[in-house]
Amino acid sequence: MLELYQAADRVEAQMLKDYLDQQGIASVILGDFLSGAMGELPANIYPTLWVVEDSDLARAKRLTEQFFNASTTTGEPWRCPVCGASVDSGFEICWNCATPGPNDNE
Ligand SMILES: [Zn+2]
Repeated sequence: MLELYQAADRVEAQMLKDYLDQQGIASVILGDFLSGAMGELPANIYPTLWVVEDSDLARAKRLTEQFFNASTTTGEPWRCPVCGASVDSGFEICWNCATPGPNDNE
């Protein structure tokens, strides 16, 4: 299991986890429950998201970037013609296989 991302709060961690779930990557949220279970700990413990399968880490990192970038863009995702992955509109290349997308206003 490898650490992927330190979230600002539980909601953000959960949203990212749900997104990774949709992409078939198993992850767990650690950290946020500690402050409740052990009152002596400092308050600035942020929840962290961990990828269960080490081999998923590189892909999960790309998805994490995509997740946060996509939230600032609008538009329909496009489907990669090579691997069939669904790619958010803010991305010019496929996150999975780096094929350029249809972003040149043909
Ligand atoms: Zn692709």
